[in-house]
Amino acid sequence: MCRVNHIFIAFGGNLGDVESSFRSARAAIDQLTNTSVKQSSLLYRTPPIGPAGQPDYFNAVISIASSLQPLQLLDALQHIEAQHHRKRIEHWGPRTLDLDIIAMDSMIINADRLIIPHTQMQFRQFVLQPLCDLDTNWQHPLLHQTSSQLLQTLLDTGETILPKGKVW
Ligand code: ATP
Ligand code: CA
Ligand code: CA
Repeated sequence: MCRVNHIFIAFGGNLGDVESSFRSARAAIDQLTNTSVKQSSLLYRTPPIGPAGQPDYFNAVISIASSLQPLQLLDALQHIEAQHHRKRIEHWGPRTLDLDIIAMDSMIINADRLIIPHTQMQFRQFVLQPLCDLDTNWQHPLLHQTSSQLLQTLLDTGETILPKGKVW
């Protein structure tokens, strides 16, 4: 059984009591077989992407260690999303809880249901800033940049730094 120690999971949500959903989802992840939560980023409040007129989002990233296979982890995360009343109605529409696997060490996966590293991570400050709270030196296996270099590249395109987040 192979244990992967640096798995980053991005949390997002903008419906209901998001902070409480995030806390209970984090606890549920920690309860998964052969899985433990290592670290949590700060919790950030961010403007929505996708359809206009949605409430602001909350975003965070956690790191976990796990012996689950990547697709088993995806299944488990989708189950936790469903337990938190996640419904897929509109692409990028409002949601109670979104759990995306950002990266698993330097693994590269291109399956129908799972692409790792997450294809949009390098374009999303609400992923890169919390990721950098946890690890500024993680290396993107395809782009060959560290998390802090990816964040700096994005800031160089004119993105502003998010207001300081809070512990959750
Ligand atoms: P985005 O992926 O742009 O952040 P989203 O999170 O709103 O969009 P979802 O509706 O949550 O998209 O997920 C659509 C599908 O993406 C999922 O059913 C899942 O199979 C697939 N997927 C591919 N790669 C990943 C990944 N790294 N983490 C989570 N889901 C993934
Ligand atoms: Ca997402
Ligand atoms: Ca998702």
